[in-house]
Amino acid sequence: MFDITQELMLDGNAAAGILHDVFSAEMTASPTECANCGKRGELGTLLAFLHGPGVVLRCPVCRSVVLRVVETPRAVYLDARGAVYLRLEKGGLSRG
Ligand SMILES: [Zn+2]
Repeated sequence: MFDITQELMLDGNAAAGILHDVFSAEMTASPTECANCGKRGELGTLLAFLHGPGVVLRCPVCRSVVLRVVETPRAVYLDARGAVYLRLEKGGLSRG
């Protein structure tokens, strides 16, 4: 069935730029776990919606919002309620 949201949907790699800005690290290979259904995977495998205010990353299995990042001129808001955890690699900053 055609779903209009497919038009706006990209994979999580499309959000790599803003995630890099926020975390100062390459995040697409970082593991995370969906708080709703327990799906584990790399951030790059989440579904990214870039057309709203900020970036929304959704679980590819249950479509729950895992991570939401909104940038304002003065701050970045990170909503990670949908993630059991996020992992930030130590010493990964020099890789790229
Ligand atoms: Zn899920």
